[in-house]
Amino acid sequence: MVSSPTVVVVGSGPIGSAYARILIESVPDLRVVMFEAGPRLTDVPGESVRNIPDPDEKERAREMSQGPQAGTYRESLGVPASAMVEGMFTARGGTHLLDFGGEGSGHAPTFPAGAASTNVGGMGAHWTCATPAPAFSERIPFIPDVEWEPLVDEAGRLLHVQNAAFADSGVGAAIRSLLDEEFGAELPDGFGPSTLPVAGDPQPDGSMRWAGADVVLGTLIEAGDPLAERFELHDLTLVRRVEHDGARVTGVTVEDLRTRETSFVPADLVVVAADAFRSPQLLWASGIRPAALGHYLTEHPVVICTVALDEQRMRRFATEEQLAEELARRSTNPTDPVAAVNRIPFSEPDHPFSLQVMYAENPPFQLDPAHPAAGNRWGYVNMGYGMRKQPRFEDGVMFDDAELDYRGFPNMTIRYELTESEQAEIADGTEDLRRAGHALGTFIAEPRLLPNGSSLHYQGTMRMGAEDDGTSVADPDSRVWGFENLVVGGNALIPTATTMNPTLMSTAIAVRGAHAAAQRLAEQAG
Ligand code: FAD
Repeated sequence: MVSSPTVVVVGSGPIGSAYARILIESVPDLRVVMFEAGPRLTDVPGESVRNIPDPDEKERAREMSQGPQAGTYRESLGVPASAMVEGMFTARGGTHLLDFGGEGSGHAPTFPAGAASTNVGGMGAHWTCATPAPAFSERIPFIPDVEWEPLVDEAGRLLHVQNAAFADSGVGAAIRSLLDEEFGAELPDGFGPSTLPVAGDPQPDGSMRWAGADVVLGTLIEAGDPLAERFELHDLTLVRRVEHDGARVTGVTVEDLRTRETSFVPADLVVVAADAFRSPQLLWASGIRPAALGHYLTEHPVVICTVALDEQRMRRFATEEQLAEELARRSTNPTDPVAAVNRIPFSEPDHPFSLQVMYAENPPFQLDPAHPAAGNRWGYVNMGYGMRKQPRFEDGVMFDDAELDYRGFPNMTIRYELTESEQAEIADGTEDLRRAGHALGTFIAEPRLLPNGSSLHYQGTMRMGAEDDGTSVADPDSRVWGFENLVVGGNALIPTATTMNPTLMSTAIAVRGAHAAAQRLAEQAG
């Protein structure tokens, strides 16, 4: 009998945080010890760096997330220089490429933009906070809808999802009206142009306080709260191995990256939520190697463009006053890229894509002042289509015991290919993107397919399945097949081809897994 169970959570992103919160709230006396390889960035652990008002501080927080190789910050953390790899270069702000080209780099020539964040809060400290829910075949076939809907609702509450964010924006409404004229008649009811749900808390001035792992942790990080006494978060602590006897895990071996000391931490349950590449890598390094581990890698290919909004068309649906209101709101946080954000969600059979349309008063790049669309008074939209990639065994990350990466883990090689049918779907989606652009204005950046890995939404490498038939890593409760007390979490669990931002879906999967684990632990304690 376990009287006061201890749960170890590997990774401090939104998914590990969801496990910590639900388990502590559900099981009296349960302790959660969370280990995070990266540093803490903000006073409130796991807060979105987008909430940092000072641009220099924001930039430094991003640099601190880009692995021990990046920047000059590491001396201030006490991380030894020997942990650094020369030649590291970084990807999108707050992330670092898996294939950085230097010594100890992963190998991903067919997935060159594959990246990760290493910091308290994980990628969830840097994310755009778009939180659509999966629809039609994006959903998991073996979780019935009656169960799925409440899971998504609970995930939405954990992430502070706003379903009608920026709905009061006249500019946003005009963009929706123009898109509806172009596409509305072709789309099923309820799947036309709409506001994009986002995770954050609206502020009185119309801006947003964006959500990170901090809001998911909730009272666990509030000093003085009784739940906080049962939660520990150790930053700059790398989990090196999950210890086990082949059917039960006993704990983890961790390395304190400040002192380089290693120690064993016993646990009644281990939750690995260390992203879609480093979670399977940790399992592999621990000798836990289900046949599907690392395989079935998907992301949604992304085609993006930028359009200058056409004044005549916009004025059919929005007034000068509404434009002035929008610009006033933008001026409260001009560096925030998200405002008046709309979408056309995935629907079947005719629109198997997700369109995201983000309004901005300036283009995201320097536009030649002589360009006819420079200084466009009605502003611009950055638009992107997410398309499907069907899961295949041969797409995935493989690990090499004979070659170690910069952290001393079996090195990763990613193999990935878009098939002919996926190329055809991408071509169809690109055509729709052109239609959307022409409906709204003039392209200042033509639609272009981004390199593989650009979505930052990596799925399938620890996919869940209904049965242990070798095509999945975890059961419907997110437990690794064959292990009583090893749970995995994150986008890697998603077994379907999706086109949207996956964090809400992964949080819903984690909610299911956490409730099931809480029940098991409560039964054992009882
Ligand atoms: P992560 O947030 O990646 O956290 C994993 C953590 O595990 C990391 O901090 C890592 O350092 C740690 N870790 C790894 N290995 C170890 C180890 N061995 N020991 C200890 N710790 C370890 N998603 C959306 O749904 N909508 C969006 O709009 C969106 N926009 C994005 C924009 C950007 C710029 C980025 C970077 C991501 C975006 N995402 C978005 C993706 C989203 O952030 C992720 O889906 C989400 O953070 C995944 O949560 P997670 O907890 O599974 O993993």
